[in-house]
Amino acid sequence: MTVVAFAVAGRRIWWLYRLVRTGQPASGRLDGIGERVRAELSEVFGQRKLLKWSVPGLAHFFTFWGFLVLGATILEAYGALFAEDFAIPLIGHARWLGFLEDFFALAVLVALVTFAVIRVRQAPARRQRASRFYGSHTGAAWVILGLIAAVVVTLLLYRGAQVNTGNFPYGRSKWAFASYGVSKLFSGLSVGVNQVIETVFILGQIGVILAFLVVVVYSKHLHIGLAPVNVVTKRTPDALGPLLPMESGGKPIDFEDPGEDDIFGRGKVEDFTWKGMLDFATCTECGRCQDQCPAWNTGKPLSPKLVIMDLRDHLFAKAPYLLGAAPEAKAATGIDEAGQGEETHGHVPESGFGRVPGAGPAQAERPLVGTLAEGGVIDPDVLWSCTTCGACVEQCPVDIEHVDHILDMRRFQVLVESSFPSEAGVMLRNLESKGNPWGGNPAARDEWTQGLGFDVRRVEGEIPADVDYLFWVGCAGAYDDRAKKTTRAVATLLKTAGVEFAILGSGETCTGDPARRLGNEFVFQMLGQANVETLNGTFGETAAKKIVTTCPHCLNTLANEYPQLGGNYDVIHHTQLLDRLVSEGRLTPVQPIDELVTYHDPCYLGRHNKVYTPPREVLASVPSLRTTEMHRCRERGFCCGAGGARMWMEEKIGKRINVERTDEALGTDASIISTACPFCITMLSDAVTAKQQSGEARAEVEVLDVSQILLRSLQPATTADGE
Ligand code: SF4
Ligand code: SF4
Repeated sequence: MTVVAFAVAGRRIWWLYRLVRTGQPASGRLDGIGERVRAELSEVFGQRKLLKWSVPGLAHFFTFWGFLVLGATILEAYGALFAEDFAIPLIGHARWLGFLEDFFALAVLVALVTFAVIRVRQAPARRQRASRFYGSHTGAAWVILGLIAAVVVTLLLYRGAQVNTGNFPYGRSKWAFASYGVSKLFSGLSVGVNQVIETVFILGQIGVILAFLVVVVYSKHLHIGLAPVNVVTKRTPDALGPLLPMESGGKPIDFEDPGEDDIFGRGKVEDFTWKGMLDFATCTECGRCQDQCPAWNTGKPLSPKLVIMDLRDHLFAKAPYLLGAAPEAKAATGIDEAGQGEETHGHVPESGFGRVPGAGPAQAERPLVGTLAEGGVIDPDVLWSCTTCGACVEQCPVDIEHVDHILDMRRFQVLVESSFPSEAGVMLRNLESKGNPWGGNPAARDEWTQGLGFDVRRVEGEIPADVDYLFWVGCAGAYDDRAKKTTRAVATLLKTAGVEFAILGSGETCTGDPARRLGNEFVFQMLGQANVETLNGTFGETAAKKIVTTCPHCLNTLANEYPQLGGNYDVIHHTQLLDRLVSEGRLTPVQPIDELVTYHDPCYLGRHNKVYTPPREVLASVPSLRTTEMHRCRERGFCCGAGGARMWMEEKIGKRINVERTDEALGTDASIISTACPFCITMLSDAVTAKQQSGEARAEVEVLDVSQILLRSLQPATTADGE
């Protein structure tokens, strides 16, 4: 029985190994091994990400550790087949081991009940899209829960009988308290009957474990084996971070002279790297990503979970072609690749995979991204709904990199197919011709400085030694009327605090972030290289290349992505600098502001760069200002809807994301909605204005940058906002 089960499971594991090996090379996945070991310890053994959801997290924690500890009981069960009083050498009679085994056996049972309750309460049949399990294989999950329960029950039954037959490695010790308790159930039976119970349930337990082994490798519970590998090979230092450069065959593409065979993005499932394929196979279908996704939560067809599941099922169904076998030799593919079972997500309308079931030639020939009529695995509406907010990556307990995969598919669509929402084309043309997405006059970049009441220094040539910070204004800060108020407020505050700063004026162009998030790496490279050349020339040999910016998207690109182009700078967000200036006493808010404020975390400041506290500290420094949090805040903050170049696309499906977020902010009863990103300001202001016009929001509600509030507290109201 054992040999057969291992052979069946081994065949599947070998098949998976060969399939993942067909992926493109992925560079640097074992660099910085110390950090990887730390990630493994904290995320796999410490279950750090799972514990963010306390109840299911704790249940999973005990199940995971139960698996490890109860490994000893599997040895004991096999040993008992050969010697009825078998004990593990050296530690086999230690009472603490008996206690641990029993404790985790019971803990796993409690965890299973918890999982069952969660699954009933979250039943997708009843809650539909509101359930995080919507689209998951719920039937398989129940089978696994049943098998684990059977493992624990058979374990306790044979151990209880062993206590009575005298074969129990821990004797009649009450340390193995659960086994001792079960033994009382059988104490009225003869030794012979207890021996029968012992034998039957030892064999029963081994049978269940072997069945579990086979079911696991053929189901979504593959993650039990794959998650540790996926975590150790994840992006470091964090799954969020810079978008990776475009690589083909494991090498960065030279956009000035691309190779003839270079693959631009992912146009077929086999274009993904082995790490991408490992991601697909590792998904546990837990739905934490789906639950947090702003697109999914506002009625759009994008669910990060379904994207990963669809890619996985398509990969598995196409495997015979990738492995060079005939289509009919598809025996070991596994997870409902035909999408035909009652419980499969093939019945979920948002899933593109189910459009072409089976592993026939049509599966191999279908487009990776395409409409229903085209039989696409991923629908264009799914692909273009993503705001790249990173909530999915932040939540995923097995470190799947959804945003990278979505962006890689966008890259192919834009660079090879020239297929993207037409509205975004205007933005791209403006970037190429004017260096900013709004199409503003490049010479007007510093018009925001007019009427400030002091001169703003412009850098010409190398930056003077007495300048503390280069102020990177950004396109929104230079051209958008609402964002210009933030720019002026920050300039005024820096001037007040005695910080020497200077701007590039018309020497600045867009960082290229919107082009990159749209998938147009070519335009990003063009703009990025120009900016890096300018900045490197500006800083010259200066050791401290310090930049302050009000835009989290500029911050992310300058700090995290320009190193890919040879630009290394010390970049700080204005809220971080203002927080420091307040704590050093260089800015002292004195004017009381008797209002209630709620702070909205911009995704590219919070999740992408982990700046959560400084803006809150600045608000806390303002006299009389009261603060309240929305229920989705900090790591779980909800996007405003503008990231991922969505700022320049129409939002045609479902509820508008900015309206959803504004509803949440208004629900706190705050009179000020504060944030720290020009895009968030625009999105939230638009929604508040619309709600005020329709009478759904109080007229006095304002959307303000943190800096504007601080400035109000420094100055009499008449000179607020840097005006
Ligand atoms: S990045 Fe945000 S919008 Fe995109 S799939 Fe993930 S959670 Fe959804
Ligand atoms: S991608 Fe991650 S968070 Fe989403 S369902 Fe799969 S395992 Fe869960």
